[in-house]
Amino acid sequence: MRLVDWVAGAGGELLALAVPVDCVCCGAEDSALCPACTSRIRHLAREPFRAEGGAPALMDVSGTILLPVVAAAVYRDEVAQGLLSFKRHGQHQLGASLARALAGAVRAATADADGFVLVPVPTSTAAYVNRGFSPVHLLLKKAAGHLPGVAVVDALRKVRPSGAQALRWTGLSGGQKGLGRGARSQRVRGSMRVGVRSRPAVAGRPCIIVDDVLTTGATIGEAARALHQAGAKVRGAVVLAATRPPDAADPAPGARMEPPKRP
Ligand SMILES: [Zn+2]
Repeated sequence: MRLVDWVAGAGGELLALAVPVDCVCCGAEDSALCPACTSRIRHLAREPFRAEGGAPALMDVSGTILLPVVAAAVYRDEVAQGLLSFKRHGQHQLGASLARALAGAVRAATADADGFVLVPVPTSTAAYVNRGFSPVHLLLKKAAGHLPGVAVVDALRKVRPSGAQALRWTGLSGGQKGLGRGARSQRVRGSMRVGVRSRPAVAGRPCIIVDDVLTTGATIGEAARALHQAGAKVRGAVVLAATRPPDAADPAPGARMEPPKRP
Protein backbone atom coordinates (compact mmCIF):
# COMPACT_ATOMS: atom_id res chain seq x y z
CA MET A 1 0.00 0.00 0.00
CA ARG A 2 1.35 3.40 -0.93
CA LEU A 3 1.91 5.95 1.80
CA VAL A 4 -0.71 8.38 0.45
CA ASP A 5 -3.30 5.61 0.44
CA TRP A 6 -2.39 4.66 3.98
CA VAL A 7 -2.66 8.27 5.17
CA ALA A 8 -6.01 8.70 3.38
CA GLY A 9 -7.20 5.44 4.95
CA ALA A 10 -6.12 6.54 8.42
CA GLY A 11 -7.95 9.85 7.93
CA GLY A 12 -11.05 7.96 6.88
CA GLU A 13 -10.90 5.81 10.00
CA LEU A 14 -10.70 8.84 12.28
CA LEU A 15 -13.66 10.39 10.48
CA ALA A 16 -15.63 7.14 10.77
CA LEU A 17 -15.55 7.50 14.57
CA ALA A 18 -17.56 10.68 14.33
CA VAL A 19 -19.68 10.15 11.21
CA PRO A 20 -20.86 6.66 10.31
CA VAL A 21 -20.31 6.21 6.57
CA ASP A 22 -20.92 3.32 4.22
CA CYS A 23 -19.48 2.73 0.77
CA VAL A 24 -21.56 4.82 -1.63
CA CYS A 25 -21.28 2.10 -4.27
CA CYS A 26 -21.85 -1.22 -2.47
CA GLY A 27 -22.91 -0.28 1.06
CA ALA A 28 -19.93 -1.93 2.80
CA GLU A 29 -19.51 -0.41 6.23
CA ASP A 30 -17.00 2.05 7.66
CA SER A 31 -15.80 3.84 4.54
CA ALA A 32 -17.33 6.20 1.96
CA LEU A 33 -15.58 4.12 -0.69
CA CYS A 34 -14.51 0.59 0.22
CA PRO A 35 -11.22 -0.88 -1.02
CA ALA A 36 -13.00 -3.12 -3.54
CA CYS A 37 -14.91 -0.21 -5.10
CA THR A 38 -11.77 1.94 -5.01
CA SER A 39 -10.00 -0.64 -7.15
CA ARG A 40 -13.10 -0.96 -9.39
CA ILE A 41 -12.91 2.78 -10.14
CA ARG A 42 -9.19 2.43 -10.81
CA HIS A 43 -9.95 -0.45 -13.19
CA LEU A 44 -12.77 1.38 -15.00
CA ALA A 45 -10.47 4.37 -15.56
CA ARG A 46 -7.41 2.37 -16.59
CA GLU A 47 -7.69 3.29 -20.29
CA PRO A 48 -8.63 6.92 -20.97
CA PHE A 49 -10.24 7.23 -24.40
CA ARG A 50 -11.22 9.81 -26.99
CA ALA A 51 -14.88 10.62 -26.44
CA GLU A 52 -15.83 13.53 -28.73
CA GLY A 53 -17.33 11.09 -31.28
CA GLY A 54 -20.28 10.57 -28.92
CA ALA A 55 -20.81 14.31 -28.35
CA PRO A 56 -22.78 15.87 -31.25
CA ALA A 57 -21.92 19.46 -30.28
CA LEU A 58 -18.20 18.73 -30.73
CA MET A 59 -18.44 17.22 -34.22
CA ASP A 60 -19.60 18.99 -37.37
CA VAL A 61 -22.10 17.43 -39.78
CA SER A 62 -19.37 15.88 -41.92
CA GLY A 63 -17.92 14.12 -38.87
CA THR A 64 -14.94 16.46 -38.50
CA ILE A 65 -13.73 16.80 -34.90
CA LEU A 66 -14.29 20.34 -33.63
CA LEU A 67 -12.71 19.68 -30.25
CA PRO A 68 -11.00 16.51 -28.99
CA VAL A 69 -12.08 15.22 -25.58
CA VAL A 70 -10.34 12.59 -23.45
CA ALA A 71 -12.50 10.75 -20.91
CA ALA A 72 -11.11 8.78 -17.97
CA ALA A 73 -14.00 6.32 -17.99
CA VAL A 74 -17.50 5.60 -19.20
CA TYR A 75 -20.22 7.12 -17.00
CA ARG A 76 -21.56 3.93 -15.42
CA ASP A 77 -21.24 1.57 -12.46
CA GLU A 78 -18.97 2.71 -9.62
CA VAL A 79 -17.78 5.77 -11.58
CA ALA A 80 -21.34 7.09 -11.98
CA GLN A 81 -22.39 6.17 -8.44
CA GLY A 82 -19.22 7.64 -6.97
CA LEU A 83 -19.47 10.87 -8.94
CA LEU A 84 -23.16 11.36 -8.10
CA SER A 85 -22.46 10.95 -4.41
CA PHE A 86 -19.39 13.19 -4.57
CA LYS A 87 -21.42 15.92 -6.26
CA ARG A 88 -23.98 15.72 -3.46
CA HIS A 89 -21.76 15.33 -0.42
CA GLY A 90 -18.15 15.95 -1.46
CA GLN A 91 -16.69 12.98 0.47
CA HIS A 92 -12.92 13.41 0.67
CA GLN A 93 -12.02 9.76 0.15
CA LEU A 94 -14.31 9.46 -2.84
CA GLY A 95 -12.91 12.68 -4.28
CA ALA A 96 -9.37 11.34 -3.96
CA SER A 97 -10.25 8.26 -5.97
CA LEU A 98 -12.10 10.17 -8.69
CA ALA A 99 -9.35 12.80 -8.85
CA ARG A 100 -6.77 10.06 -9.48
CA ALA A 101 -8.87 8.90 -12.43
CA LEU A 102 -9.17 12.46 -13.73
CA ALA A 103 -5.42 12.98 -13.40
CA GLY A 104 -4.86 9.82 -15.45
CA ALA A 105 -6.99 11.23 -18.27
CA VAL A 106 -5.08 14.54 -18.17
CA ARG A 107 -1.78 12.63 -18.38
CA ALA A 108 -3.08 10.66 -21.37
CA ALA A 109 -4.22 13.86 -23.09
CA THR A 110 -1.00 15.77 -22.48
CA ALA A 111 1.36 12.79 -22.76
CA ASP A 112 2.97 14.24 -19.62
CA ALA A 113 4.12 17.35 -21.54
CA ASP A 114 4.52 20.51 -19.46
CA GLY A 115 3.01 23.87 -20.21
CA PHE A 116 -0.71 23.09 -20.48
CA VAL A 117 -3.21 25.23 -18.62
CA LEU A 118 -6.21 23.37 -17.19
CA VAL A 119 -9.40 25.42 -17.06
CA PRO A 120 -12.41 24.06 -15.12
CA VAL A 121 -15.94 24.53 -16.45
CA PRO A 122 -17.78 26.93 -14.10
CA THR A 123 -20.61 25.65 -11.93
CA SER A 124 -23.93 27.43 -12.20
CA THR A 125 -24.46 29.82 -9.31
CA ALA A 126 -27.59 27.98 -8.13
CA ALA A 127 -25.76 24.64 -8.01
CA TYR A 128 -22.90 26.24 -6.11
CA VAL A 129 -25.23 27.80 -3.55
CA ASN A 130 -27.07 24.49 -3.07
CA ARG A 131 -23.93 22.42 -2.58
CA GLY A 132 -21.59 24.96 -1.09
CA PHE A 133 -18.79 23.70 -3.34
CA SER A 134 -18.02 23.11 -7.00
CA PRO A 135 -17.35 19.39 -7.62
CA VAL A 136 -15.31 20.00 -10.77
CA HIS A 137 -13.07 22.57 -9.09
CA LEU A 138 -12.59 20.34 -6.08
CA LEU A 139 -11.72 17.29 -8.19
CA LEU A 140 -9.34 19.29 -10.34
CA LYS A 141 -7.62 20.74 -7.29
CA LYS A 142 -7.06 17.23 -5.96
CA ALA A 143 -6.00 15.95 -9.42
CA ALA A 144 -3.46 18.76 -9.78
CA GLY A 145 -1.54 17.23 -6.90
CA HIS A 146 -0.77 14.30 -9.24
CA LEU A 147 0.15 16.56 -12.16
CA PRO A 148 3.41 18.47 -11.83
CA GLY A 149 4.01 20.75 -14.80
CA VAL A 150 0.41 21.79 -15.45
CA ALA A 151 -1.25 24.93 -14.15
CA VAL A 152 -4.87 25.25 -13.10
CA VAL A 153 -6.47 28.59 -13.96
CA ASP A 154 -10.04 29.22 -12.86
CA ALA A 155 -10.65 31.59 -15.77
CA LEU A 156 -14.24 30.93 -16.82
CA ARG A 157 -17.25 32.69 -15.34
CA LYS A 158 -20.96 32.17 -15.83
CA VAL A 159 -22.68 35.10 -17.50
CA ARG A 160 -26.03 36.17 -16.11
CA PRO A 161 -28.60 35.83 -18.89
CA SER A 162 -30.26 39.05 -19.95
CA GLY A 163 -33.01 40.22 -22.31
CA ALA A 164 -33.81 37.92 -25.20
CA GLN A 165 -31.36 35.34 -23.92
CA ALA A 166 -33.12 35.07 -20.55
CA LEU A 167 -36.44 34.64 -22.34
CA ARG A 168 -35.00 31.92 -24.51
CA TRP A 169 -33.49 30.15 -21.50
CA THR A 170 -36.59 30.25 -19.35
CA GLY A 171 -38.59 29.05 -22.34
CA LEU A 172 -36.33 26.01 -22.39
CA SER A 173 -36.22 25.42 -18.66
CA GLY A 174 -36.88 22.02 -17.19
CA GLY A 175 -33.41 20.57 -17.46
CA GLN A 176 -31.18 19.86 -20.43
CA LYS A 177 -31.89 16.14 -20.67
CA GLY A 178 -34.90 16.48 -22.97
CA LEU A 179 -33.37 19.11 -25.22
CA GLY A 180 -32.18 18.29 -28.69
CA ARG A 181 -28.75 19.19 -29.94
CA GLY A 182 -29.73 22.55 -31.40
CA ALA A 183 -31.80 23.70 -28.42
CA ARG A 184 -29.15 22.72 -25.93
CA SER A 185 -26.36 24.50 -27.82
CA GLN A 186 -28.61 27.56 -28.10
CA ARG A 187 -29.25 27.48 -24.39
CA VAL A 188 -25.61 27.53 -23.35
CA ARG A 189 -24.33 29.84 -26.09
CA GLY A 190 -23.02 33.08 -24.60
CA SER A 191 -23.36 31.70 -21.07
CA MET A 192 -19.63 31.90 -20.22
CA ARG A 193 -16.83 34.41 -20.41
CA VAL A 194 -13.23 34.71 -19.29
CA GLY A 195 -12.84 37.05 -16.34
CA VAL A 196 -10.81 40.17 -17.18
CA ARG A 197 -8.17 39.39 -14.56
CA SER A 198 -7.77 35.83 -15.86
CA ARG A 199 -7.14 36.85 -19.47
CA PRO A 200 -3.34 37.15 -19.23
CA ALA A 201 -3.18 33.65 -17.71
CA VAL A 202 -4.88 32.02 -20.72
CA ALA A 203 -4.17 34.32 -23.72
CA GLY A 204 -1.78 32.60 -26.11
CA ARG A 205 -1.49 29.57 -23.81
CA PRO A 206 -2.41 25.97 -24.68
CA CYS A 207 -5.54 25.31 -22.62
CA ILE A 208 -7.44 22.14 -21.79
CA ILE A 209 -11.01 22.46 -20.53
CA VAL A 210 -11.93 20.18 -17.61
CA ASP A 211 -15.45 18.99 -16.76
CA ASP A 212 -16.97 16.06 -14.87
CA VAL A 213 -19.33 14.46 -17.41
CA LEU A 214 -19.49 14.68 -21.21
CA THR A 215 -22.96 14.30 -22.73
CA THR A 216 -23.73 16.38 -25.84
CA GLY A 217 -20.60 18.51 -25.51
CA ALA A 218 -22.59 21.77 -25.59
CA THR A 219 -21.16 22.99 -22.28
CA ILE A 220 -17.58 22.23 -23.28
CA GLY A 221 -18.20 23.82 -26.68
CA GLU A 222 -19.32 27.02 -24.97
CA ALA A 223 -16.27 26.96 -22.68
CA ALA A 224 -14.06 26.62 -25.77
CA ARG A 225 -15.81 29.54 -27.46
CA ALA A 226 -15.29 31.80 -24.44
CA LEU A 227 -11.62 30.79 -24.12
CA HIS A 228 -10.98 31.33 -27.87
CA GLN A 229 -12.49 34.76 -27.56
CA ALA A 230 -10.00 35.55 -24.78
CA GLY A 231 -7.12 34.51 -27.04
CA ALA A 232 -6.49 31.07 -25.52
CA LYS A 233 -5.27 28.19 -27.68
CA VAL A 234 -7.84 25.55 -26.80
CA ARG A 235 -6.33 22.12 -27.43
CA GLY A 236 -9.27 20.09 -26.18
CA ALA A 237 -11.02 18.91 -23.06
CA VAL A 238 -10.68 16.24 -20.40
CA VAL A 239 -13.62 14.78 -18.51
CA LEU A 240 -13.90 12.26 -15.73
CA ALA A 241 -16.62 10.35 -17.55
CA ALA A 242 -18.39 10.22 -20.91
CA THR A 243 -21.97 9.01 -21.17
CA ARG A 244 -21.25 7.19 -24.44
CA PRO A 245 -18.65 4.42 -24.49
CA PRO A 246 -15.92 4.50 -27.14
CA ASP A 247 -16.99 3.05 -30.48
CA ALA A 248 -15.46 -0.43 -30.59
CA ALA A 249 -15.69 -0.52 -34.40
CA ASP A 250 -13.76 2.73 -34.69
CA PRO A 251 -10.49 2.49 -32.79
CA ALA A 252 -9.60 5.63 -30.84
CA PRO A 253 -7.18 7.91 -32.66
CA GLY A 254 -5.02 7.95 -29.52
CA ALA A 255 -5.71 10.06 -26.49
CA ARG A 256 -2.86 12.47 -26.95
CA MET A 257 -3.47 16.08 -27.93
CA GLU A 258 -1.21 18.44 -29.80
CA PRO A 259 1.59 19.29 -27.33
CA PRO A 260 2.48 22.91 -26.52
CA LYS A 261 5.05 24.38 -28.90
CA ARG A 262 8.46 24.87 -27.37
CA PRO A 263 9.60 28.49 -27.52
ZN1 LIG B 1 -17.85 -0.62 -2.02
